Amino acid sequence: MTDIANVTVFGTGVLGSQIIMQAAYNGKKVTGYDISDELLAKLPDRWEWMRGFYRRDLPDFDEKRFDEAIASIRTTTDIAEAVADADLVIEAVPENLELKKKVWSQIGEAAPERTIFATNSSSLRPSDFADSTGRPAKFLALHFANMVWLHNTGEVMRTEQTDDAVFDTVLEFAAEIALEPIAIRKETPGYVLNSLLIPLLNAGAYLYAGGVASPEDIDKTWKVATGAPNGPFEIYDTVGFNVAVNIIRNNPQDATLQKFADLLEERGIKQGRAGRADGAGFYTY
Ligand code: NAD
Repeated sequence: MTDIANVTVFGTGVLGSQIIMQAAYNGKKVTGYDISDELLAKLPDRWEWMRGFYRRDLPDFDEKRFDEAIASIRTTTDIAEAVADADLVIEAVPENLELKKKVWSQIGEAAPERTIFATNSSSLRPSDFADSTGRPAKFLALHFANMVWLHNTGEVMRTEQTDDAVFDTVLEFAAEIALEPIAIRKETPGYVLNSLLIPLLNAGAYLYAGGVASPEDIDKTWKVATGAPNGPFEIYDTVGFNVAVNIIRNNPQDATLQKFADLLEERGIKQGRAGRADGAGFYTY
């Protein structure tokens, strides 16, 4: 059992709100911080949206426990108040290096000495803003997947400066809030998940854009031969074409991938068929 009882989450958007609920539902005292009361006012709707999924996805879902979690969550737009009693701060603000640096220096100045710091950043390297925290030995990444309650990996990634004890504590904390803790002992872009997933998705793109096989046959091969539940094109539909195009455009020197991104834009995004959330992508839902 860790000493982490009080958790503060910076940023209450898509992931921040899910992190708040995951920690609160699993018994932590949680404070959510965001930059305006209007943003914080959206949270009750997010809880009700999540309640439907918790009910659907968790076999032992407990309505009363969910209500108690909602009642226990505090929110504020005051940084000092947000971190005053925090054992752990988890940051889930937009993926922008300058913003992360600014927010972490504000948190670093306001938080008590003992507080551990974790970023949920997906693609930035934690070591690029570790020094902004003022306490890099107490800083690491704790990366959640979207739909935290269901896709419950907790990828804990240290930097070279992170203390061993802090790394171990956050791994244990991840288990306490019902995540599967994944220990990433060396900083790597994309953590474990995206280091595996992006090459698979790219390989599917090469086969299809190169005229080798259809999305259906590529998916079928992967599923029948390995027993995996989804093939790369079903995963593109789940991730959404916008996210896929953004990732591919970061790699402009690869002409085949660029051709594939053009195709996602022309036949998907511009037609309102950008994946599962639109009811259609490579497949129709
Ligand atoms: P989002 O845009 O939905 O939410 C970001 C929140 O941060 C907003 O509520 C915004 O008001 C708030 N914010 C902006 N400036 C702030 C500041 N100065 N201080 C505090 N809060 C501020 O973004 P998101 O999708 O939740 O992503 C947040 C982080 O989580 C990013 O680093 C992203 O890479 C990571 N992440 C996202 C996903 C995903 O699937 N969306 C998955 C894993 C990790």
